[in-house]
Amino acid sequence: MNYDVIIIGAGPGGIYSAYELIHKAPDLKIAVFEAGHRLEQRHCPIDGDKIKSCVNCKSCSIMNGFGGAGAFSDGKYNITNDFGGTLYEYIGRKKATSLMEYVDAINMSHGGEGTKLYSTAGSAFKKICMQNHLKLLDASVRHLGTDVNYIVLKNLYQELESYADFYFDTPVEKLEALDGGYRVSYRDREHNLCTQESRFCIVSVGRSGSKWMQQVCNSLNIPTKSNRVDIGVRVELPAVIFSDLTDQLYESKIVYRTKKFEDNVRTFCMNPNGIVVSENTNGIVTVNGHSFEDPARKTENTNFALLVSKHFSEPFKDSNGYGEAIASLSNMLGGGVILQRFGDLERGRRSTKARIEEGLVRPTLNATPGDLSLVLPKRILDGIIEMIYALDKIAPGTANDDTLLYGVEVKFYNMEVVLNEHLETEYPGLYVIGDGSGVTHSLSHASASGVFVADEIADSVKI
Ligand SMILES: Cc1cc2nc3c(=O)[nH]c(=O)nc-3n(C[C@H](O)[C@H](O)[C@H](O)COP(=O)(O)OP(=O)(O)OC[C@H]3O[C@@H](n4cnc5c(N)ncnc54)[C@H](O)[C@@H]3O)c2cc1C
Repeated sequence: MNYDVIIIGAGPGGIYSAYELIHKAPDLKIAVFEAGHRLEQRHCPIDGDKIKSCVNCKSCSIMNGFGGAGAFSDGKYNITNDFGGTLYEYIGRKKATSLMEYVDAINMSHGGEGTKLYSTAGSAFKKICMQNHLKLLDASVRHLGTDVNYIVLKNLYQELESYADFYFDTPVEKLEALDGGYRVSYRDREHNLCTQESRFCIVSVGRSGSKWMQQVCNSLNIPTKSNRVDIGVRVELPAVIFSDLTDQLYESKIVYRTKKFEDNVRTFCMNPNGIVVSENTNGIVTVNGHSFEDPARKTENTNFALLVSKHFSEPFKDSNGYGEAIASLSNMLGGGVILQRFGDLERGRRSTKARIEEGLVRPTLNATPGDLSLVLPKRILDGIIEMIYALDKIAPGTANDDTLLYGVEVKFYNMEVVLNEHLETEYPGLYVIGDGSGVTHSLSHASASGVFVADEIADSVKI
């Protein structure tokens, strides 16, 4: 076998597996296959000027490449078991927390030093939220910011490249189980089919690799389960409205239980003084958000998502297909993301360019003014409206007419791969980690899962 360990995917899961392996088992020969570009070659062509919307690049620089989907993210590492994944169900709460703290320490020693760690512990907002039928979830959050996150990734790559072979722009096409190992097939630059083999294989393909992951599970008969998708909008409002919360907590995860349908609506990915961005997942344009640590790049707005979780029961199995169908409705009507003022939504009318321009909140994403009630199912829309009014009680001004809503934001969940407590499939030495496993949904959990399996491999080769 040419390698001891092959890692598929160079997102946080893959990067931290490689990092831990080169430190804990430096004799192992490691290869990392990545469908996307090197970090410095990752550029989304949308410049807001000549190219205003997604042009469906062969490899999406926002989702693929060194750093994975997290490379241009806001770099919020939430240290908590309350959200971001269910890693603790496999490895225990204490272990999961200590691995997230370990990842934080590595980030600090690779360019993240000086960034702020916020915490909900002892916050007065917990009580205020409770008094208004809202629940503030417990977490510590390290905010690296998009710019520092990039520096950390650059430093990690510099350290890794001399110890591991990186194959960029090289999607693995096929993964096969051999007697005592694994074989990956891929194309070289001349498009010839090539293979590499290894004793251990760590699959960390993230959300963008979900369809490929499903194919692998089908071909190897690895059981999976899937039944969840989160659908909603991204809210943008003047930063000052949320400043009491964001100054103290930076990111607050707040859950509201709707009176009408008893659905849970939650805030997600809060970006104080940030920007709203569009994102392309498998050809479907949805919305997301960023913010920068650099004061020069801060805006006057804060954005966050409001999401409603949809869990489906038998016989329906394609929860991601449901989310995609809703997102493609907004793409059909708006050519991408749709933008609506809250006041227009409440009055049952579409937003127009003129109404947006007359409003007091300047949109940070160039989206098509329209009507979200033509896109989102009533149950989801009603939940979002109810929560906006609930948030208005703790952050007055949230329910202002000029508050902007971008749709749709969809949080796709990968199907869950059936794994044991070592994050290993029923094939010995084949590990599935990060968002591609369905176990994690965040930078911190994905990174921690990478460290965990690397330690498992390092321990097993020591014996
Ligand atoms: C815009 C944006 C902002 C975000 N902000 C935050 C945030 O602030 N905090 C947070 O906790 N989370 C955030 N997230 C989510 C976070 O980025 C993910 O949870 C995290 O990146 C998951 O890590 P991963 O390694 O499992 O997968 P990914 O980061 O998705 O990496 C998987 C990698 O595998 C590669 N790949 C896929 N298929 C193959 C194949 N067949 N062969 C080879 N390579 C393959 C992909 O190209 C990709 O680079 C954000 C996501 C986005 C898109």
